[in-house]
Amino acid sequence: MRRAKRVPLSPLLKRYKYYFDLLKKTTDEYLFLADLTSGMVMVSPNLVQDFDLPGEVMHGLVEQWAELIHPEERGQFEAAMRSVKQTEGIYDYTAEHRVRTRKGEYVWLRVRGQVGTDLEGRPNLFAGMMSRMAKRNQADEVTGLLNKYQFEHGVKVALANYRATQEGGAILVFGLDNFKIVNETYNRSMGDRVLKHVARLVEQLLPPLLPLYKLDGDEFAIIYPGAKQEDIAKLFASIQQCLARPQELEGHQYFCTASAGTVFYPQAGKDYLVLHKHAEAAMDLAKRDGKNRNCLFSKDQYNRWVRSIAMRDSIWDSVEKGCVGFSLFFQPQVDAATQRLIGAEALLRWQSPKGRMVAPMEFIPILEETKLIIPVGKWIFEQALLICKKWREIVPDFRVSVNMSYEQVKDLSFKEFVGACLRRYNMPPESVILELTESKIVADWSFVNQQFDLFRQQGIAIAMDDFGTGYSSLASLKNLSCDIVKIDREFVKKILETDFDKRLVKYVVSLCHSIGIHCCIEGVEQEAEYELLTKECHADTIQGYYFGHPESVENFEAKFLAPIKAGQTGKEN
Ligand code: C2E
Ligand code: MG
Ligand code: MG
Repeated sequence: MRRAKRVPLSPLLKRYKYYFDLLKKTTDEYLFLADLTSGMVMVSPNLVQDFDLPGEVMHGLVEQWAELIHPEERGQFEAAMRSVKQTEGIYDYTAEHRVRTRKGEYVWLRVRGQVGTDLEGRPNLFAGMMSRMAKRNQADEVTGLLNKYQFEHGVKVALANYRATQEGGAILVFGLDNFKIVNETYNRSMGDRVLKHVARLVEQLLPPLLPLYKLDGDEFAIIYPGAKQEDIAKLFASIQQCLARPQELEGHQYFCTASAGTVFYPQAGKDYLVLHKHAEAAMDLAKRDGKNRNCLFSKDQYNRWVRSIAMRDSIWDSVEKGCVGFSLFFQPQVDAATQRLIGAEALLRWQSPKGRMVAPMEFIPILEETKLIIPVGKWIFEQALLICKKWREIVPDFRVSVNMSYEQVKDLSFKEFVGACLRRYNMPPESVILELTESKIVADWSFVNQQFDLFRQQGIAIAMDDFGTGYSSLASLKNLSCDIVKIDREFVKKILETDFDKRLVKYVVSLCHSIGIHCCIEGVEQEAEYELLTKECHADTIQGYYFGHPESVENFEAKFLAPIKAGQTGKEN
C-alpha cells in the first residue's frame, strides 16, 4: 500500500491518544480506535505492519479494511459497519473474519469492539481489538485439508446462503472403520499416512468445488449445498467402493471402510452446533449398525442414540458397583434323542436403575464397545459355574454353556481366570462349554484357534454360536476349530415349510458329524420342528422354547430340576 502522509489527529482521538499508546505497550493484540464523526481511525503499529496499512492514523480505514477481508465475510463486515454508524446507544460488536496479510495469505481474526456515545447519546467512538486465531489459520496438519474450524465456518456460510436463497443441502461426516487397528498394527506415523492417502482418494470423488474437510481423529466431512438424498447416496457409494478393498501404501496394506452420518439442513438443524452433533450421532449409529454404511439423521434415531448413551452410563455404574442389576437366566438344553436335561445356557440379563428389563441385544453391544464385557464376562463365568456345581448334585453330568465375546477371547487373562475358577470350585472342565457369540468380527482366525486350542487342551469344549445367521456360516465352520456348532433359529424357523432349509440343516449336521462336531439346534418352538430335527436331521442337542424359556435360577430349579429330584424326567412331565 502507498504510504500516507502524516495525518493530524482529530480532537477526540487526541484526547484518547495517551491511553491508547499506553495500551499498545501491554498487548500483542491489534488495537483500533475510530472517531465516528470524522471517520478518522487510530491503530496499533502491528496492524500497520502485518496488513500493510498506510499509517497508524488514517481516514477511510473501513473501506480499505473491507477490501482486505475475504469475499465470503466481506458482506457481513460491511453490514456490521453500517450498524455501528447507525446505532443508538451502546453497541457490542464481535465477529470473526479472514483478512489478507502483507504476504497475501488470509488469516483469521476475532474482532471485539464497543461503540461509545457522546452526551447526547450519539455514537461517536468505536474502540476495540482484534486477535489472531492462530489455530484457525492452520490447515489440518496431517492431511493438509481444511481443518475443523474451516468446517465450522463452511457450515455457517452454507446456513447463511440458505437464509439468503432458501437452498438447503447436506452435511456428511464420515469416520474410518477400524482405523485403530492401523495404529495398533503399524504405528501412528503409518496411521497419519493412511489418513493422508484416504484424503487424496476421497477428494478425487467429490463434485467440483466441494472441499473435503478433516475433523478430529479419523473423521472427515463434506458440505454439499443443494444435495438431495440421491446425491448423497451416490457420493457415499463411490467412497464405499473406493475403500472396499485393501489399499496398498508404501509396501504395506491397510483396509478401512467408512461409516458416515448425514444431516440435511435446515431440516436437521439451523445452527452449526446442532447440525454437527446430529451428524456425529448418525455416524455413531452407522458404526453400531455394523459399519461401512451411511446413516441419514432422523429424530427417532437420534432419541434412540441419546437413550443408549444414557444406558452406557448406567451400565458403567452397575459394573463399578460389582455388577448390581445384572443377573443370569438359564435356558434348558436337552439330549435330542432322549429329551433328558443335560445342561443350560447362561443368558445375561440387566435391569436398568429405573427397573426396566433391558434385552441383551441392547446392552451386550455396549458392554463390548466399552470392553466392560471383560470384567462382566468373568462375573458371568463364576456365577454360572457356581450354579452348575449346585445343579450337578441333581444332574451329575450337567453342563453350563457360557457366551463369550470376541473381546474376551482377545483378553488373555480370561483363560487364566477360567482355569483358576475351575480349580477353586473343584469343578471338572467338561462341566462348561464356551460359546463364541460373534464370529462375524473375527479378524484373525489363527489367533482365535490358538486361544481355543488352549481351552480345549484343558478339556473345555468350544461352541460356535449362531450358525446360519448372516455372519456365522460355512466359511467360519471351516476356519474355526470347535467341538459344537449351535445352529441358529434363523436357520430352523422355516424348516417345516421349506424343503431346502430342511435339507440344508440336515447336511450341515451330517457335515459336522463327519468331522466329529456335535450340533445343538437353537430356537425349537414346536413339537413338529423337534421331531423333524431329531429324526431326519439327527441333531445332538436341542435348546428352545419347546423345552423351556430362559428362567431365573429359582424358576429353573422349580420347573426343571424339582421334577428330576422327584424322580420324573422328560418333556411329558
Ligand atoms: P444366543 O447366545 O444365541 O442365545 C440364544 C437366544 O435365543 C436367547 O436370547 C434365547 O432367549 C433365544 N431363544 C432360545 N430359544 C428360543 C426359541 O425357541 N425361540 C426364539 N424366538 N428365541 C429363542 P437372549 O437371551 O435374548 O440373548 C440374545 C443374545 O445375547 C445371545 O444369543 C447372545 O449372543 C447374547 N448374550 C446373552 N447373554 C450373554 C452373555 O452372557 N455374554 C455374551 N457375550 N453374550 C450374551
Ligand atoms: Mg449363545
Ligand atoms: Mg445362538
